[in-house]
Amino acid sequence: MDYGVNTFAKVRDGERISPQEALELCDNGALLELGAAANERRQQLNPGHRVTYLIDRNINYTNVCVTDCQFCTFYAPNATHPDAYVNSREVLARKIEEALALGATRILMQGGHNPDLPFDYYLELLGWIRVAFPTIEINAFSPSEIEFMAAISGKSWLKVLTELQAAGLSGLPGGGGEILDDEIRKRVSPKKISTENWLRIMEVAHSLDLTTTATMVIGLRENLHHRISHLRRLRELQDRSLAAGSRGFNAFISWPVQIEGTSLGRSKFREEYGATPSEYLRHTAIARIFLDNVPHMAASWPTLGAKVGQVALHFGCDDFGSTMIEENVVSAAGAHTRVSPMMSVVEIHRQIRGAGFYPAQRDSSYNILRDYRAAADDDDLTEVSLESIPEFVPMPLERENGGGLTAVGR
Ligand code: SF4
Repeated sequence: MDYGVNTFAKVRDGERISPQEALELCDNGALLELGAAANERRQQLNPGHRVTYLIDRNINYTNVCVTDCQFCTFYAPNATHPDAYVNSREVLARKIEEALALGATRILMQGGHNPDLPFDYYLELLGWIRVAFPTIEINAFSPSEIEFMAAISGKSWLKVLTELQAAGLSGLPGGGGEILDDEIRKRVSPKKISTENWLRIMEVAHSLDLTTTATMVIGLRENLHHRISHLRRLRELQDRSLAAGSRGFNAFISWPVQIEGTSLGRSKFREEYGATPSEYLRHTAIARIFLDNVPHMAASWPTLGAKVGQVALHFGCDDFGSTMIEENVVSAAGAHTRVSPMMSVVEIHRQIRGAGFYPAQRDSSYNILRDYRAAADDDDLTEVSLESIPEFVPMPLERENGGGLTAVGR
């Protein structure tokens, strides 16, 4: 059978494949052949056996949201709801202090679309963090939050992003991308940002040299055309941003939707949502092959578990994500561990080495902070977990961490 011979040869030669060729790979590619081709692409972009990771903490500053996405179980519809919260400065300070104690170099801050927070709230929040914690990098507010801020303030996206950047913002998470196709978005999140606006806001962020990541959630009853169309739109935007002299997206990461407790999980189509590990791996490999202009690809272990994450490192991924301190949004919606899937640095090293690679700590721009090439380098690490910090008080999942899938993006 020679269905993919020319396509695989193109990958070997470092050439771009077309959307049609990607679709053919989706239809016919054998799993291990896809993995091998994805690894060729990975080696062209990131030669060697280094796998990076980030130490960071997710912080969801509010769970109040008026957008009602069907895959979200975490939002409170208004401020009077008994579960509603907006984190106080005291709570935020404690979270950042704990993250710093664990060696975090970044916080990833996202929240619901809360109509009670004026735009100045975000500027003041960033300004306060910048002064109180000058060493921590702040990635915050996915494109849907930026669109919401523009709507409540009457400012343009460029003005909103410029002012946030001046206040201390260094990058945007890729959350809210889900499937970049309005046919799917209108079905599962009709009030959320459109495909076009998500891409345009990211393009503005690129023009300002903000750090960005592209994300994708599979298993929303999309078909293969929708998936390839999502990847094509990302690749086209990346081409434009790179041509304009920007960095564009640093990385891409995808994961399967988690539907437990959500409207989707109660629908008559519930069995049709989600994706198996092999489907995730096939998709990861095709994304690595297709997105030849996005430098890095991260494995998603919180949704499918560390073992699938390790295998993904053999399907084109060169990054193991982050420690995910306090990431419990996907987990509470049914992810692999059903508890906060935080992984300690020691455990991340164990997983990366167990998969046949060596770990390196990075920042959110993928600058290497430290290479741990030799196994003996791990001797410098101390096993530490959030629970080992005396002042840490575990939070009930639903109370403290809102944001649904918006909150998951890196
Ligand atoms: S996913 Fe985000 S935008 Fe959608 S309802 Fe949940 S918090 Fe709101």
